[in-house]
Amino acid sequence: MSQIRLRFAPSPTGYLHVGGARTALFNWLLARKEQGKFILRIEDTDVARSTQESVDAILEGMAWLGLDWDEGPFYQSDNFPLYKQYVQKLLDAGKAYKCYCSAEELEAKREKAMKEGGKPKYDGTCRNLPPQPDDGRPYVVRFKAPQEGSTSWNDLIKGTISFENAELDDLIIQRTDGTPTYNFVVVIDDATMNITTVIRGDDHVNNTPRQILLYEALEVPVPSFAHVPMILGADKARLSKRHGATSVMAYRDMGFLPEAMVNYLVRLGWSYGDEEIFGLQDLIQKFSIESVGRSASVFNPDKLLWLNAHYIKNGDPVRLAGLVTPFLKDRGVDPAGGPDLVAVVKTLQERAKTMLELADGAVFYYKDDFDYDESGVAKAFKPETPSLLEALLAKLDSLESFSMESIEGLFKGFCEEKGIKLGQIGPAVRLALSGTTASPGIYEMILVLGKGETRKRVERALARLGK
Ligand code: GLU
Repeated sequence: MSQIRLRFAPSPTGYLHVGGARTALFNWLLARKEQGKFILRIEDTDVARSTQESVDAILEGMAWLGLDWDEGPFYQSDNFPLYKQYVQKLLDAGKAYKCYCSAEELEAKREKAMKEGGKPKYDGTCRNLPPQPDDGRPYVVRFKAPQEGSTSWNDLIKGTISFENAELDDLIIQRTDGTPTYNFVVVIDDATMNITTVIRGDDHVNNTPRQILLYEALEVPVPSFAHVPMILGADKARLSKRHGATSVMAYRDMGFLPEAMVNYLVRLGWSYGDEEIFGLQDLIQKFSIESVGRSASVFNPDKLLWLNAHYIKNGDPVRLAGLVTPFLKDRGVDPAGGPDLVAVVKTLQERAKTMLELADGAVFYYKDDFDYDESGVAKAFKPETPSLLEALLAKLDSLESFSMESIEGLFKGFCEEKGIKLGQIGPAVRLALSGTTASPGIYEMILVLGKGETRKRVERALARLGK
């Protein structure tokens, strides 16, 4: 079999949204699985709506997700001469024609047809005109589409789809100003880039029969098509900003990891038994376009959060430390001025569901000017607490080796000696070190903060709370 060639073809009229990212991911996965090529094409023929800012945002989103491409990015705006050439080719072959009908005439015909209960379709006035003199009259170029028979394809996701040719219009392929139209340029690009499989959103299903007829007219191979069902919000309406963030990069800013996003996106429509967790390499092996479901999927933020928590919990602390640093800086924390950030991350990654939570949870390690949780203080600080804390500090000072085991041993020994339960001293220590009642484990915190800082914080708490 010849090599599979796939493409992602975003229109740069906004950021990379969740649906586009999923389309890109499916294309990328199949290319990697089949050792084919993944091509990036920027569909910027709509000059008025396309912006460089959007191109940059799309590239940034793909880079963040780890979707690298083998060829491109190609820009349609660089290809205008090529499109012109192909328009001419179809004209020369008698497969396209110049249409001189004015916009007003067309509008009048459309209205008449509608009134008479007919289809608002081009009536073919110019379809069989004899060659016209080149007298500067404005014209569009229309594709001479077959008027009988049907056009069908075996969609890799949706099965056989068929359209009656009589339903399809003689598509305009070049406007009066000489610019080519959308369906035409997509076909020329897919054909000249030798795309073998087109995976795209199912909002393009209606374009496909028109595109197939163009491939046939150009006498080039028709690619396979896979139309991916839509993504819906919880209310079953098409996913939009109403449902929350739809920009992929907004999820990074909300503290999501790219691997969680990828894992979540692939599960929007694709399944593999009842497995939920997939790493990239795993996905490359297991993914197939035929296992993408036919029905729309519902975006579930809780599930994304669950996956994110999973990847943070199992993430490499060194990498997480790097990723959390900008979030800490946003919180006015410079991790260089405090305990080792990797050690800090290790104490937090078990419980943080997002990198924002991880950052919030890390702040107390670096800022010791926090307030104390009031209800926590009321519960943890009893009249006997200050003297217990003093005694504990003395023991800590004399601790020879400083490790999780030795700290734990110290607390056990201390409780036995004083005849108290850990619950009578632990919560006070926790508050003194972190200001909160929900923090990493006490021994872990002491280990990360070190003896000196632990003493400083306990003394600060005693001065403030230990009346
Ligand atoms: N540019 C189109 C879009 O962003 C995609 C066209 C295609 O994949 O054929 O929806």
